[in-house]
Amino acid sequence: MDIKFLDLQKINLQYQEEIEAKLLETFRSGWYLLGNEVKNFEKNLAHYIGSPNAIGVANGLDALRLIFKAYLELGQMKAGDEIIVPANTYIASVLAITDNRLKPVFAEPNIENYNIDIAEIEALITPKTKAIMVVHLYGQVCWSEELDDLAKKYNLKIIEDNAQAIGAAWNGIKSGNLGDAAGFSFYPGKNLGALGDGGAVTCKDSLLAKTIRTLANYGSEEKYINKYQGLNSRLDEIQAAVLDVKLKYIDQDNEKRRSIAEKFCSEIKNPKIILPIFPEEKKEHVWHLFVVRTDHREKLQNFLQENGIQTLIHYPVPPHKQRAYRYYNHLSFPVTEKIHHEVLSLPVSPVMTEEEVEKIIEILNKY
Ligand SMILES: *Cc1c(COP(=O)(O)O)cnc(C)c1O
Repeated sequence: MDIKFLDLQKINLQYQEEIEAKLLETFRSGWYLLGNEVKNFEKNLAHYIGSPNAIGVANGLDALRLIFKAYLELGQMKAGDEIIVPANTYIASVLAITDNRLKPVFAEPNIENYNIDIAEIEALITPKTKAIMVVHLYGQVCWSEELDDLAKKYNLKIIEDNAQAIGAAWNGIKSGNLGDAAGFSFYPGKNLGALGDGGAVTCKDSLLAKTIRTLANYGSEEKYINKYQGLNSRLDEIQAAVLDVKLKYIDQDNEKRRSIAEKFCSEIKNPKIILPIFPEEKKEHVWHLFVVRTDHREKLQNFLQENGIQTLIHYPVPPHKQRAYRYYNHLSFPVTEKIHHEVLSLPVSPVMTEEEVEKIIEILNKY
């Protein structure tokens, strides 16, 4: 029995009939962009998140890029301003900042949950700081009252990279509705995945929402009249139709991930493997990834491979060590670098069988 890291085919076949009916309907409608499917999905997504605004865009990176671009257009940020961002994140979070000629200021993570260490943030604030980007990494909410107070005290925006955490909540508030604006990704492997690329922004300020919508459509509100130098970043009708079907089941899918994670946390018992902490408040984590740490990662990964269990690494090289950011290569973030050397992601998904879960536990306990 081979266990795939993520069986996308099986995930989508859960909703085969409904998805296929919607695909056919959209195909036959003759309307493929900026239509009712996107409008409908945006309305349902906004309602689900509890946000007054949702805007469908082409992908998760664009969602984040457009948030900053809109703040620049609105004069609330300017080139050279500083944005505090976790050093331990996927590179997209950082690209969204630098693409807008803003400056990323990296903050170390907390080794307990791998998210930005909120206690480290205040020391990084300067007169140029305009925002804090939090990334709800691996599906776990990164939020606290202290963070909120800090943002208020220094008049900073909080941008959420919610690419990995749709459905998670803090104190009854969904991620994507905690800060000022949030970017979502519907990359096929995310908890809410499209059949291709897709993304969305949610935000509280309706003027910001309007600016993002305009920027994503060539900077145009009225056809052939261009208010900004925008981009073409639209969610298409087919993706929106599929996402709207899957959105109805996201809580159910996340709940399955959570029950697998809970079982892993209580039944994997091996001193060589550091498990993630299952949060006391269950809703704070939607387990996009189940990430363990170990000293000899390659050895563990090979052992699992030999036993038919596919694993991945999220992520092997942090943004500040990438060639793309060679002018940051000299920076040192020991906690981030340690995490990048030790992490390994185990399979977790809403379609894993009981036997698969048992087998993973058994093999890990044997290692
Ligand atoms: C997936 C992801 C993104 C980017 O989303 P795309 O849709 O692939 O552009 C951004 N940030 C994080 C943390 C992600 O995991």
